[in-house]
Amino acid sequence: MVVGREEDEVGVGERVTVRDVRGPGAQLGLEPGVGKVHEGDAAAGSDAQLVETGGRVDAFHRGIVPYVSTPDDPLLVFGPRSIAYDFGPEHPLTPKRFGPGMDLLRHVGAEPGLAPEPAPDDILLTLHLPEYLAAVRRFSVDPSIPEEMGIGSADNPSFAGMHEAAGAVAGGSVAAMEAVLGGRVLHAHHPGGGLHHAMPAKAWGFCIYNDPALAVVRARAAGLRVLYVDLDVHHGDGVQAMTYGDPGVLTLSFHESGRFLFPQTGFIDELGVGDGAGASVNMPFEPFSGEASWLPAVRALLPTLAAVFGPDVVVSQHGADAHAWDPLAHLRVTTTAMADAARLVDAVAHLWAGGRWVATGGGGYDAYRVVPRVWALTWLAGAHRSPEAATPPAWRERWADEAGHFGTPGMPATFLDEPNAGQPVTGGQKAADIASSAVLARVRAVALPRLVREAEDRGWWRPSLSWAGLEILTGVGERAAVAEGAATVGGAAPTMRTIAAADLDNLLLAPRTVAPFDPGDGLALLRGALLGGARVVGAVLGDVVVGLAVAVRSASEAGVESLLAVGVAPAFRGDGLGRALLAALVAGRPAHTAMEARVGVAERDVVDPGSLDRRLEVARRLLAGAGFVLRPVSPDIARDDPSTLVARLAEG
Ligand SMILES: [Zn+2]
Repeated sequence: MVVGREEDEVGVGERVTVRDVRGPGAQLGLEPGVGKVHEGDAAAGSDAQLVETGGRVDAFHRGIVPYVSTPDDPLLVFGPRSIAYDFGPEHPLTPKRFGPGMDLLRHVGAEPGLAPEPAPDDILLTLHLPEYLAAVRRFSVDPSIPEEMGIGSADNPSFAGMHEAAGAVAGGSVAAMEAVLGGRVLHAHHPGGGLHHAMPAKAWGFCIYNDPALAVVRARAAGLRVLYVDLDVHHGDGVQAMTYGDPGVLTLSFHESGRFLFPQTGFIDELGVGDGAGASVNMPFEPFSGEASWLPAVRALLPTLAAVFGPDVVVSQHGADAHAWDPLAHLRVTTTAMADAARLVDAVAHLWAGGRWVATGGGGYDAYRVVPRVWALTWLAGAHRSPEAATPPAWRERWADEAGHFGTPGMPATFLDEPNAGQPVTGGQKAADIASSAVLARVRAVALPRLVREAEDRGWWRPSLSWAGLEILTGVGERAAVAEGAATVGGAAPTMRTIAAADLDNLLLAPRTVAPFDPGDGLALLRGALLGGARVVGAVLGDVVVGLAVAVRSASEAGVESLLAVGVAPAFRGDGLGRALLAALVAGRPAHTAMEARVGVAERDVVDPGSLDRRLEVARRLLAGAGFVLRPVSPDIARDDPSTLVARLAEG
């Protein structure tokens, strides 16, 4: 972004570079590297229907074996080196989980298709420091040397060959990403991956090299924008730290609050820095929260943030340690909820990211009863298949003795848990769920652009998602079909006009004018907003809307309108269009009506947001130019997003 343009350059919900008006299927035409991903494989193209027919082989194999692996199934990453990542018999992250885990995966039809090999140094060095690699190598050769850089500690004991073992975990996730980027597969699942705590120069939380972050930066190197979803009970601090200033990586972590659990981070106000401000989202749960608050939070944040961000690829971490039976943490999530979450990730990948999805495992310390089922359910989500009700008897029998010996007797009879994993819902759990739901409201307030948040709250628009042909998220407002290739024309001056719902039948929306990312979603939202009483002023060139200003009567204050968005398509910025749109919106407000505005980190062009300072400076000038006066920010807003601007326009 060129600094020094006019105030409409980074306005409220503004966007940057326009190429053309693209339809939902063409949303990946943005960057040169992206198109290449499609070329090798028709299944990696935009036709989601192609991908959702994974069960077709069943037609002739049914009755012989319960499941048959098909070419469309997720690539399962596992090999001899996977079990070498071993901190010893006393450590909770045990390779013992691979026994029952891989066995159960095979029972559901998953066969390993990629054996991890150590990532080369140049890959590890994209995130880790040379002196750290040197240290890991020293411990790898001589595990007896004194603790250094977190290695040799109780959490991260040294062991012979640890560089190669940890390097292979990293290599597995990077190779999984390369298989997806190359179009070889649409989905890949690396159960041994997910070492999300590792830091650039520190072993941390059982993690030596940060394989999910390395997979993320591998996709970034190909020019792709990445949505990283972390479902582990512990905050995904390493991935967040390694991408904190990068607007091209949206990290979304669901975890038990850092007030109670390692790594003591992951609070709402960790929102990213600089250009990355707004691209880090954290949902911390109160201890003892169960699926009653966990799953609704995943359902509320994941699809909507994906709609806003418009990722090219999804990376997800499916730690199994949020489970009610996990010995190291205090949430009470079930495999049922985790399976639903995995299906949401799959559906999100298909709707917004062309299906490109790399899943990893993560934590999980009930190695026999919980981890294998979460691995199998994650893989099945990517295979677009539901599990049988019962776990295979042969699997239960094979591992029952070892599980009993390991301290967790009683192999589970079903893939999906009973409600609350068969435990009573205590008063404390109910209180925790209520508290976590309140946290969710705060997260939505800072993480979602105001237009999108109000659209959901007022029932104007909300994304719909389907998985394996089933509606799994029932939204509001049908995504509009947007003609491809209707390029916006620079140079000509758009005309300013009030937009009515009926006008939308004949109008296109330029990408990145306002949130959400996809113009079809944007048109559906606008239609809902107009039918719901919003006022919309548009800058229109031909039949393309290239600028928008949106306001609606305040939900909480009589005689006040809320400013929901001011946005201009990238090619039309710098000509005072944002200022003109806001002026027209202000001039058209009803008599004796004041206006209020709130601008936080979520109001940004997700592709090219510019620095937070620059965004705030531009927003201040835009608001001041329209007569708004900045107001003190209430402490409850400031604690979650200290950069928030609150402004008011006196009634006129
Ligand atoms: Zn899928």
